Amino acid sequence: MRIIGITGGIGMGKTTVSNYLATAHHLPVLDADLIAREAVEPGSPILSKIIDRYGSHLIRLDGTLDRAKLGSIVFSNPAERTWLEQQIHPFVRTVLKTERDRLIQTHPTNTECSVAIVLVIPLLFEAQMTDLVTEIWVVSCPESQQIQRLMQREKLSLEQAQARIRSQMSIDEKRDRANLILDNSTTLEALIEQVDRALS
Ligand code: ATP
Repeated sequence: MRIIGITGGIGMGKTTVSNYLATAHHLPVLDADLIAREAVEPGSPILSKIIDRYGSHLIRLDGTLDRAKLGSIVFSNPAERTWLEQQIHPFVRTVLKTERDRLIQTHPTNTECSVAIVLVIPLLFEAQMTDLVTEIWVVSCPESQQIQRLMQREKLSLEQAQARIRSQMSIDEKRDRANLILDNSTTLEALIEQVDRALS
């Protein structure tokens, strides 16, 4: 069975591709970002560690983590980002592996779902999770376009968008390690066409 790992730079189109794979191709998708959110749910041990380190001002009135506040700490401080990732990545890896194995075992054969499972892992290379997949697709677009999409969607300043981009491995390095590069520099239709071709 193909286990497709989707990665790429922030805001380059990973979710767009995985949503399409789920809706049009009916492939099961596991999303590392959603699992990383679970890791810091109210009452979780990781959230307690975060509060111990940075203080309870990071907790909103409803008890959930203020991700924007945490983001502003870790995206401007590489050592703190490393600490946070050391807390969260092992949790994400364990859940991804368990869920992946469950899907492999339970998915019926002779359906489109049996063809492939999709794992969306933004930090696939940085967090050394390449062993969880059998092939790697990197979604890519020029940095100028990436910055534009990030600023628009996340309401970030140019400096904030650049800091987030710099916190990850460069897209050139990711492209070098891809089995397939999906060029998302033009239209959604063009992107979708590449995805369809990759599955045919
Ligand atoms: P993140 O790393 O933040 O999770 P991502 O890589 O999953 O982001 P998307 O959320 O898929 O990226 O896309 C980022 C933004 O760019 C979204 O608002 C999406 O609608 C838009 N977008 C993606 N591809 C295109 C495209 N080809 N044309 C226009 N807009 C696009």
